[in-house]
Amino acid sequence: MTLALAIHGGCGTLPKAEMTEAEWAQARSDLAGALRAGWTILAKGGPAVDAVEAAVRVMEDSPHFNAGHGAAFNADGEHELDASIMDGATLAAGAVCAAKHIRNPIVAAKALMLRGDPLLLAGPAADVFAEHEGVDTVPNEYFSTERRRKNLASMKIREIVGTASEASEAEKHGTVGAVACDAQGHLAAATSTGGYTNKPAGRVGDSPIIGAGTYARDGRCAVSGTGKGEYFIRYCVGHEIASLVAYKGLTLDQATHEVLGELSDHKIGAGLVAVGADGTIVAPYNTEGMYRGWVTPDGLLHVATHGDVEMVGQA
Ligand code: ASP
Repeated sequence: MTLALAIHGGCGTLPKAEMTEAEWAQARSDLAGALRAGWTILAKGGPAVDAVEAAVRVMEDSPHFNAGHGAAFNADGEHELDASIMDGATLAAGAVCAAKHIRNPIVAAKALMLRGDPLLLAGPAADVFAEHEGVDTVPNEYFSTERRRKNLASMKIREIVGTASEASEAEKHGTVGAVACDAQGHLAAATSTGGYTNKPAGRVGDSPIIGAGTYARDGRCAVSGTGKGEYFIRYCVGHEIASLVAYKGLTLDQATHEVLGELSDHKIGAGLVAVGADGTIVAPYNTEGMYRGWVTPDGLLHVATHGDVEMVGQA
């Protein structure tokens, strides 16, 4: 069976011209670290669901991506985090949303998945669950970074002057996600986000919604999305792609382009990574760039932000 791992760090990339060499180097190194964390598990014969959790966890800990440390601020100047994970072998899934204190929301989502029921916990219930499970909790300020603070300030000004719709993808949003196929041919997907900058308190996006921002089903595909969550939910993006593959016989490439095309009609930024039942990887996006990476079956790490893809070594 072909091992496969692909990740994204969101379609809210900085424009290439505004990204310093140091920022790019750090983002690239964190993407490579995420790929290594996931690939180490897959290469030892470990389950895809553990690999996607490990990869997402590294990106949650990085300040460069809008998830965990480095998450976007909501309109109240706080962070509310959403995450989910799905095991394509069993269709087991777990999710948390609007959590304020879970250091790694993907770890809590996986713990909930293993418990089996309920599938999704919101707000304080998610935070309390994490504490009971021994999953690390932190003060809300742990997630704050200078860059996201500036994003919030600029979105507040845009709101006042009426230019919010002209904000760059980087000012607005971002997400992290991973998809994998393991040695047994099982698929999995995981997604984690701070949502969009200046979102109303209590707003929940697509990332913790199974079938929208995250979906995995053996024999079909695994998908993790990034972009305006309200549309990912309306189109049930993850499940829609899996259904186009299963019922219409589309290739993964065709199915993802069809759905991304529909999202693009709404003039929203969107992207995703997906892996097919045969280990095929796709990573389409309609924005200027998308942080992304994958490992080829020979163990070579590839990362990219904009058009150019760089090979950054062996896993
Ligand atoms: N999908 C995320 C959300 O709507 C944001 C993003 O990926 O940019 O919460």
